[in-house]
This record gives sequence, structure tokens and C-alpha cells, in this order.
Amino acid sequence: MIETDILIIGAGPTGLFMVFEAGLLKMRCHIIDALPQPGGQLAELYPKKPIFDIPGYPSVGAGELVDNLMEQIKQFEPGFTLNEVAETIEKLEDGTFIVTTNRGTKHHAKAVAIAAGLGSFEPRKPELPNIADFEEKGVEYFVRNPELFRDKRIVIAGGGDSALDWTIYLADVASEVTLVHRRNEFRGALDSVEKVQELKKIGKINLITPAEVVEIQGGERLESVVLEKEGEKIKIDTDYLIPLFGLTPKLGPIANWGLEIEKNAIKVNNALDYQTNIEGIYAVGDINTYPGKLKLILCGFHEATLACQSIYQRVNPGKKYILKYTTVSGIDGFDGTRKEAEKAVVKSID
Ligand SMILES: Cc1cc2nc3c(=O)[nH]c(=O)nc-3n(C[C@H](O)[C@H](O)[C@H](O)COP(=O)(O)OP(=O)(O)OC[C@H]3O[C@@H](n4cnc5c(N)ncnc54)[C@H](O)[C@@H]3O)c2cc1C
Repeated sequence: MIETDILIIGAGPTGLFMVFEAGLLKMRCHIIDALPQPGGQLAELYPKKPIFDIPGYPSVGAGELVDNLMEQIKQFEPGFTLNEVAETIEKLEDGTFIVTTNRGTKHHAKAVAIAAGLGSFEPRKPELPNIADFEEKGVEYFVRNPELFRDKRIVIAGGGDSALDWTIYLADVASEVTLVHRRNEFRGALDSVEKVQELKKIGKINLITPAEVVEIQGGERLESVVLEKEGEKIKIDTDYLIPLFGLTPKLGPIANWGLEIEKNAIKVNNALDYQTNIEGIYAVGDINTYPGKLKLILCGFHEATLACQSIYQRVNPGKKYILKYTTVSGIDGFDGTRKEAEKAVVKSID
């Protein structure tokens, strides 16, 4: 059982920044995310795009913002359960919560903050009738651990950044890489497209376009895929098929937690603290809705800050909190570090 003050569901920008605000109030956080890496939409959908409306940054790359948030919260030592979906929640008699993931990991917390964005991202799957039979038996929708593919034959299907980036990376890991895309054109960064072309030219990868995977075959595990290219069928023996067709967000199991839902979002009392209809469960960032809601990163930061003030009362009943500026109080990290502004020197002038 993982014990924490605040269990945050979602490691997007809102969930990450919440760790910082909670840390200032001496509360510990643990984050669950369905994805293998933190960053939410920024890391998964647009890591290389610049963002222009983060206060104080005229322009910041989405991936860079995630790195900076991770650096900012490091001192508060958050725990992470990645690659797992928060599936069930139970409220105990003492008002605390137990949240269990799809892999059975249990978390016990004094408050729960749902920062689940658009919901948990689920892979878009190719429409092949027997694909479910080979999931985790040769069909992988994410590259969670590239070492899984060391010295293996792999077929990657897709035409976006993920398909291009993993083709480039795995060309040095797998024994044979085939990239299949239904068009001749790829929708990705120009330098990635050029790199893939170069790898094809030097015979490091096979590139088959325009083509689609139309059949998958095997016994206990995947053994081969059949492609259709301009009316012709091509069979390729392979150990893995990695379809990278993007992700679709789904509210997922949270929809069954007894929360008030409106248009796929969780209703909160925004005038106060972004608490939901269940006391002790908060919803912050893109996942919540209230009159005037804007799905922007900076709004998620604000909501997380206010929610932390309310959670402080829950975690420290009867204790009064007086707002302190970090410029004045400095920051005491849970890792023993201290950051503070240089103190003014009192010196007489003769
Ligand atoms: C292309 C694009 C460009 C954008 N540009 C801007 C911009 O310029 N400025 C701006 O302010 N905003 C922009 N946005 C919007 C911005 O990305 C979102 O407002 C922001 O990501 C919301 O952050 P979040 O932390 O609330 O949620 P998310 O970033 O969506 O993160 C939520 C996380 O929760 C996880 N999760 C959900 N359910 C579960 C579950 N049950 N169990 C475990 N994990 C779960 C998901 O896997 C995800 O990682 C853009 C969005 C897109 C798609």
C-alpha cells in the first residue's frame, strides 16, 4: 500500500504543479498516470511545439515545460505509479481513500485530486478482428521499454511523429525494422522524415508505402503480418507489430466513481476550492467543468493552487495556514534542500 497525503490522478502539467503547491504546504504527493512518462498532453501530443501563453515564458517548448516542472517538484520527492490506470476508489470511514489501479497497485491518501485532463489516453487500434488475441503477445501499442525489442524483428505501422521517432530509435535496437504507412507522405517533423529516408537508403530499415496491415497471424504469439500494397499482398514474418495510430482520450473508469459528470467533465464548486460532489475528491485542470471554465495550462495551475489550500485543512485539521511568499519564506524541500533569497545585509554607512 502506497501512503500519501494527496493522491493525484494524472501527471499532466496540472498534476505536476500541484506537487509543488502541496510541497509548500508540507504535504506529500503521489501521482498515478496511465502513460509511461509524465507530461500529459504536452508529452504525448505536442512535445516539440512551442507554447506562447505560459506567464513569464515568451515561448517554451511543451517538452521543455514538462522537464522544468519535473525539476521544480524534484525537491518535494513525489512518488509515481506510471503505466497504470486508476480504476477504483473506496472512501473509508475516516474520510481517507484507497485508489486501486488496473494492475492492482493500492494507494491510501487523505485527499484525491483528479487531474486527468481529457481522461486516460487509449491507443487507436487497427481494425483487425483478431488483434486482441495477440495484445502483449507480439502486438504492442506503446514502446514502454525499448529493450523488449532488442534483436527482434519488428513492424511499425503509422505515419506520425511517434512512428517516425520509434523507427529511428529502434533501428539500432531491433534486428529488423519495417515501417508501414498507408500514404507515401508522413505527418511528422521534417528532420525525422529525412532521417527515416536516410535509414531506408542505407538498408537499415524497410519502408513500405502506401500499404496497410490487413491480417495478423500466429499461434500462441504473433508470427507474421500480411500487408496490402496497391492490391498486392505481402507477408512479413515478425516478432512484434507496433501500431502507432495515435491516442484517443477516454474518461474511463473515473466515470463510475459517483462523481457529477457534465459533458465528459467533472463538475466542481469553482467559487471555493474545486472540490467535487464527493468531499475529499478534487478535480483540477482540463478534467473539470464550472461556469467560465477555460481548458488552459495556466488555469490548471491556478486551480491546483487553490485546491491545495483546501486540502491543507483536511490533512491538518484545526491548523491555521498563513500564506507566505516563497521570496520571503524560501523553500524547504523534503529532500533536505533549502532555497532562499539572499538576505538583506544590515550594515551601517559611516
Ligand atoms: C495540440 C495542442 C496544443 C495545445 N496548446 C496549448 C497552449 O498553447 N496553451 C495552453 O495553455 N494549453 C494548450 N493546450 C491545452 C493543454 O495541453 C491542456 O490544457 C493541458 O494539457 C491540461 O493539463 P492537465 O494536467 O489538466 O491534463 P493532461 O495534460 O490531459 O494530463 C492528464 C493526464 O491524466 C492521465 N489520466 C487520465 N485518466 C487517468 C486514469 N484513470 N488513470 C491514470 N492516469 C489517467 C492521462 O494519461 C494524462 O497523462 C493544447 C492542447 C493540444 C492538444
